[in-house]
Amino acid sequence: MRAIAYLLAALATTTSATAQKRAPGPVIDMHIHAYGANGEGPPSYVCAPQPTFRPLDPGRNGAGLPAYMTAMFGDPACPRRFRSVSSDDELRTRTIAELRANNVYAVAGGLPPYVDRWLADAPDRLLPAIGHNTPERLPPVEELRRRHAAGRLVALSELSQQYNGVAPDDPRLELYWALAEELDVPVGIHMGPGPPGVTYFASPKYRAALSDPLLLEPVLVRHPKLRVFVIHAGYPHKERMMALMAAYPQVYAEFGFLTVGYRDSDIWPYLRAFIDAGFEDRILYGTDQMVWPELVTVGIERVRGAPWITDAQKRKFLYDNAARFLRIDPAKTGVLSRAR
Ligand SMILES: [Zn+2]
Repeated sequence: MRAIAYLLAALATTTSATAQKRAPGPVIDMHIHAYGANGEGPPSYVCAPQPTFRPLDPGRNGAGLPAYMTAMFGDPACPRRFRSVSSDDELRTRTIAELRANNVYAVAGGLPPYVDRWLADAPDRLLPAIGHNTPERLPPVEELRRRHAAGRLVALSELSQQYNGVAPDDPRLELYWALAEELDVPVGIHMGPGPPGVTYFASPKYRAALSDPLLLEPVLVRHPKLRVFVIHAGYPHKERMMALMAAYPQVYAEFGFLTVGYRDSDIWPYLRAFIDAGFEDRILYGTDQMVWPELVTVGIERVRGAPWITDAQKRKFLYDNAARFLRIDPAKTGVLSRAR
């Protein structure tokens, strides 16, 4: 009997060790949106990934734009596409279900009413952030201070003022940079692509030129204790992003929508370039999940299947770097005590 008990105990140990080895680890998604079903305008599809950047023929008096938008967002011809949700409740509940199913902790950014509603449903999974694309619509500094004191402000994110033509160094953002430095919370700022053609159909002030990561330099000089993650990693300005990261070691690159919506032949070499250049401890995973909850799963699947990147590097990208950057270890992996 005792021999059988030993055998069973040994088997149990082996099985749990194997299960542990096989079980996918936890993930920190640095970038999901907590807002409403109409957060990205009318119902639309997202391609994961987008096969090509289609050409737009503006046509006479711009008559070609609707056909372009249908081909890109309304009914795109791509092998894998997902349709947007139809209600706020559906967006919140399905996104949270996806997070739980994949063992994801997510920095959820938006305005306070949405963020608080989402947080009420999943305080164990969501890391609350505040962000918007219009400086004037960000909550007043005092309100943010109160949220921080109440444990409801993990980051200022996403600051997507690029959609309104506002540069990082714009005076309207200065008090938020100063606040983030004072409260010691990181800031996620959108510096990269938006939906193709967005200047013509949704955000007339969006400027691609504001994707240049070096535009952050004056802010970092003025606020030396500020911690920043650059959303969409300044794509496609890889060299300028690396120049910024080399000069300012507190800056991290977050890959956002690139990991779900960009082609394998583009995103993995882009990510790998940062690893090869020595920045593997400062790359952050995010999905930019907006109104397509499936993207939570898609991003993780794509990263886990990505070529040329080792399992150890994927571990850093998917969890460890974010835990160190945010100074939290929600899955209790012990990574913080190992980090120097
Ligand atoms: Zn975003």
